[in-house]
Amino acid sequence: MIPVKGYAAKAAHAPLEPYQFERRTPGPHDVLIDIRYCGVCHSDLHKVRNEWGEGLFPMVPGHEIIGMVEQVGSSVKKFKVGDCVGVGCLVDSCGSCPSCKDGLEQFCDGPLVFTYGAYEKDGKTITYGGYSNKIVTREDFVLSISPKIPITQAAPLLCAGITTYSPLRHWKVGPGQRIGVLGLGGLGHMAVKLAAAMGAEVTVLSSSDKKRGDATRLGAHDYVVTSIDENLKKYACHFDLIINTISTAHGLPKFIELLKRDATMVMVGAPDKPEPFHAFPLILKRRSIAGSLIGGIRETQEMLDFCAAKGVAAEVELIPINQIDNAYERMLKGDVRYRFVIDMKSLT
Ligand code: NAP
Ligand code: ZN
Repeated sequence: MIPVKGYAAKAAHAPLEPYQFERRTPGPHDVLIDIRYCGVCHSDLHKVRNEWGEGLFPMVPGHEIIGMVEQVGSSVKKFKVGDCVGVGCLVDSCGSCPSCKDGLEQFCDGPLVFTYGAYEKDGKTITYGGYSNKIVTREDFVLSISPKIPITQAAPLLCAGITTYSPLRHWKVGPGQRIGVLGLGGLGHMAVKLAAAMGAEVTVLSSSDKKRGDATRLGAHDYVVTSIDENLKKYACHFDLIINTISTAHGLPKFIELLKRDATMVMVGAPDKPEPFHAFPLILKRRSIAGSLIGGIRETQEMLDFCAAKGVAAEVELIPINQIDNAYERMLKGDVRYRFVIDMKSLT
């Protein structure tokens, strides 16, 4: 077994604290990764605070993992010692259901193994995530990171990047389309950069005026302060697609009105409470509300290669791991510019 140092919540709502555990000795198809950076996703906060239901504790969060290959199993073909690699939200899936066969492992009929807070395929070993110094992952779930992507800015691509890239691709976003990005946090800022890189006209829909300058710098063409109803009226029937990244209940109906006829609002934000809405705004303009979950491994690699080619990476604030609870509090206040990333050198 491999001894590992990390940070864990021992119980729901508990602050994170140093935690030592073991990972499996790498098998023939495994890669041992020395973790250098791990992004802090709002999902980590939802999960540590048990907002999505029964969590498995102790919980070592973290599913935006960047590191260097330290050891490879005898059958590993794609990676060698010293490669820069990533691990996102998934570490295993059944491999044989229709979704897995289509490269959409995130929709696997099961067993689907999330990077932390889940059971391995054996049904009893709890997975531990990237707030730690080492991880052992099956080669098929390891991503290759181009040296063109600055290593400190790469981690958020593994969740925030793919979660916004996947719906932009699925709904065929490109030049001539108006895309609304609702909420300018970790996911939102990646949605802006990616949609702009795909040639779309991007509007940030933010709850305050505070991020206007940043939005322009990130590539947005327009900015709307959503807390003022008059502002929203001017954008009625305006967007071809809205990517909704808001992490909490926020009053959905007024945003549905911003969609054109036949347009879609994609929910990627995952609030713990339901969002009620009327059927009429959907009926009268044949609008859709859809959801999207991260992305498959093939598409995640495609997104990473797209980012390398287009010069897209995350805007990050590096933090030492002992600042994680403070980072969560700032995230709850919307005070993130635009992703906290833990520098694993701070893990002693
Ligand atoms: P984040 O960095 O905290 O950003 C969320 C943004 O939502 C905030 O920056 C804020 O933007 C806006 N917001 C927050 N509270 C609000 C309120 N009360 N009213 C209006 N706007 C509010 O979070 P994140 O990491 O981007 O994650 C966002 C959500 O996506 C979370 O629920 C997370 O669990 C979920 N998620 C889903 C997937 C998936 O596969 N579907 C993957 C990853 C994460 P403004 O300041 O601009 O208003
Ligand atoms: Zn995430």
